[in-house]
Amino acid sequence: RPRVLSGIQPTADSFHLGNYLGAVRQWVALQEDHDAFYFVPDLHAITVDHDPKTLAARTRNAVAQLIALGLDPERCTIFVQSHLPQHSELAWILQCYTGFGEASRMTQFKDKSARQGADRASVGLFTYPDLMAADILLYQAHRVPVGEDQRQHLELTRNLAQRFNQRFGQTFRVPEPFIPPGAAKIQDLQDPTVKMSKSASAPGGIVELLEDPKRIAKKFRSAVTDNEREIRYDPEHKPGVANLLTIYSALSDRKITELEADYEGKGYGDLKKDLADVVVAFVEPLRERVQGLMDDPAELDRVLARGATRAGEVAGETLALVHEKIGFLPKS
Ligand code: ATP
Ligand code: MG
Repeated sequence: RPRVLSGIQPTADSFHLGNYLGAVRQWVALQEDHDAFYFVPDLHAITVDHDPKTLAARTRNAVAQLIALGLDPERCTIFVQSHLPQHSELAWILQCYTGFGEASRMTQFKDKSARQGADRASVGLFTYPDLMAADILLYQAHRVPVGEDQRQHLELTRNLAQRFNQRFGQTFRVPEPFIPPGAAKIQDLQDPTVKMSKSASAPGGIVELLEDPKRIAKKFRSAVTDNEREIRYDPEHKPGVANLLTIYSALSDRKITELEADYEGKGYGDLKKDLADVVVAFVEPLRERVQGLMDDPAELDRVLARGATRAGEVAGETLALVHEKIGFLPKS
């Protein structure tokens, strides 16, 4: 079975609709026919402002959401990044083979550091892509499902793997970028030209899976569209309407062309109201499932302990090989 690996950061109290439709939904399908590793990258989460009082709870909560959304700890390996010291160790090593100019071209760093202010952006935010490369290469993953926003980091990961293999001999599998069928990119409801983001979207622009359904409905009602009236899928000229149709189609499993036909002659208000109903019907049972899982933190921690053991076997093996190739003196 091909190995697959992906992660989602504990940077908020809830995942958003983009995280589900662009990532987690595909992970659930992939666990059926892949050797799947899914993790919560808490080391990545500290590259931006974070609160030490909430990080652990958010990490557990992320695990609960993954399970509530359909990941099955019997079918895939779920773990927390900081439980595996190998991630930080390999990240350091990869940093030593990454060009400064190469790292400087990463657009996520440019975006996120511009938001924080250049003086406050950390070196960790700058080297984030090396940690992500370590996450992937440690597990010799064949496929890494990521959204469009992470494609450049994956390209860097492939370059690093090839560079290392060329210089030191075959060590890492070169992972394939993989946009799984049905993955959708979801835009911010208030600014449909940018992606919905846990850490960057304003409250009105983001639809959190665990928020109050009444607020969700309200956010759809006030979603930014355009001053035409036609309900038509045209992401370039009508990004707001296109985004609503994308969400609607993904959650209802109906084709966008079908929706366009259904809403012919109807107004944006009708579309928004029906879509809000569809989203609310989806999130309603989820809140309860997450709560149920959070009521038994010891069980979640047992899942994570098993995950760390399994992940550690694979990661440890890769890291030992890396040490040998680089020529470090083995510990006796
Ligand atoms: P942050 O703002 O903290 O970076 P995020 O919302 O970008 O949070 P991540 O934890 O970085 O979420 O990403 C988890 C997964 O969700 C990744 O595979 C990413 O590509 C995907 N993803 C994030 N935002 C969207 C979106 N708007 N549409 C589709 N997929 C998304
Ligand atoms: Mg992100």
